Amino acid sequence: MRYIIVDLEATCWENARDRQRMEIIEIGAVELPTAKDPFTHEFAHFVRPVVEPTLSDFCLQLTSITQKQVDVAETFSAVFPKFLNWIGAEPFVLCSWGAYDLSQFRVDCDRHQLPWPASFNQHINLKQEFANVNRVKTCGMKQALAHVGLPLVGTHHRGIDDSKNISLLANLILPILESTAGTR
Ligand code: AMP
Ligand code: MG
Repeated sequence: MRYIIVDLEATCWENARDRQRMEIIEIGAVELPTAKDPFTHEFAHFVRPVVEPTLSDFCLQLTSITQKQVDVAETFSAVFPKFLNWIGAEPFVLCSWGAYDLSQFRVDCDRHQLPWPASFNQHINLKQEFANVNRVKTCGMKQALAHVGLPLVGTHHRGIDDSKNISLLANLILPILESTAGTR
């Protein structure tokens, strides 16, 4: 099976996690041609938020994404179709670290009145699967990398770098899921 590993960054404020208020500001993703293979292609696009276009100081610091980068970016209505186009028509399973990314996609698709892709309904929550496979509590990507002795490469809380780091964890988890499910 082919896998798309996606990691979103979004507008945010300290001590606030309201997905309806948050808007995607970066879509980072890589493709794994199979469960075991390292990523081959990558997708990295900034997205200009429309409801609250000015990034908070907290968000600028957390993500290291600059105001200029989102100001010159296209909105979700333009970037999301590009993302789907990049994924292409071949069958795939969408994966992310936790359930957040999928729910934020839903919020932004609704906000921009874009149809929900049926292909996104098959989703693997790698955070949960990592915990199951390793018999540990669910944990952040950084802790998971440390748990298996992998370095965090690039900048944490940048979608493209997070998706690459998550893909290395996926290469460890997905082959186990395939061998136990036999259907993937
Ligand atoms: P991540 O993939 O961990 O970089 O997080 C995705 C998005 O979740 C970020 O771009 C923020 O919008 C939000 N987020 C992550 N960590 C925090 C935090 N400590 N406080 C508020 N929002 C956060
Ligand atoms: Mg991230």
